[in-house]
Amino acid sequence: MSFVEMNHIRKQFGSLEVLKDVTLHMDAGEVVSIIGPSGSGKSTFLRCLCQLETINKGEIIVDGQTMVSTPAGSSKAVYAPASQVRAICRRMGMVFQHFNLFPHMTVLENILEAPRVVKGMKTDEIMPIAESLLKRVGLWSKKDAYPSQLSGGQKQRVAIARALAMNPDIMLFDEPTSALDPELTGEVLRTIKQLADENMTMIIVTHEMAFAKEVSDRVLFMAEGIVQEDGTPDQIFEHPENERTKSFLQSML
Ligand code: ADP
Ligand code: MG
Repeated sequence: MSFVEMNHIRKQFGSLEVLKDVTLHMDAGEVVSIIGPSGSGKSTFLRCLCQLETINKGEIIVDGQTMVSTPAGSSKAVYAPASQVRAICRRMGMVFQHFNLFPHMTVLENILEAPRVVKGMKTDEIMPIAESLLKRVGLWSKKDAYPSQLSGGQKQRVAIARALAMNPDIMLFDEPTSALDPELTGEVLRTIKQLADENMTMIIVTHEMAFAKEVSDRVLFMAEGIVQEDGTPDQIFEHPENERTKSFLQSML
């Protein structure tokens, strides 16, 4: 069994069917990038995995634990008890396009918050972890700064450190560099690349094609709520078979 199994996911917002039948299996240590046009359901798909959205149909299993499934013959997905869903979601770290740091907290407080509140860790327990994470993203010297005093690239590196502070088994990135000025994307992409080199399991929604090609084990092209093509970076970027993939890649040049 794969580490993450998302089977036949369907998600509607009212009458709008955003995910039509999306399946993704990935192993621990794998890096999967999701590319595709705006509005194709990429963010919704990630948000369903970490339970920021509920699915209508399908199945999500993480490390053998079922978060949600759809009984045969049933038209509705059934979630596991809330405690089990929460336990599964705690294994995931999510990084958003717009950082979503707590604006009234310093960089250090942003890192300490979730381990303290969610895991009940003591400040002196989490402090060495916070220090090593902030050093790793090159921002220990900014520990007492507030988010408003940081550049976009620095904010995003704090957001990555904050997600890592929960010691996740899988990291989800939703267009982590889309809100950044071009000269600031490199520092964030390097941080993500470093995680890939350390074998972190990751799903990355991105418009950075060169980065997706470099960092991914597998690339999914999503359009209109369907995975149109799924392959190695070489297959998707050099030898795409689907006409939609081809025209999307052309449009990104
Ligand atoms: P992508 O990330 O690929 O750009 P999204 O997953 O954000 O696509 O959105 C897919 C579609 O779902 C879009 O048409 C969007 O407007 C719609 N959508 C996303 N979130 C909601 C929501 N909370 N309520 C209604 N429609 C939504
Ligand atoms: Mg999106």
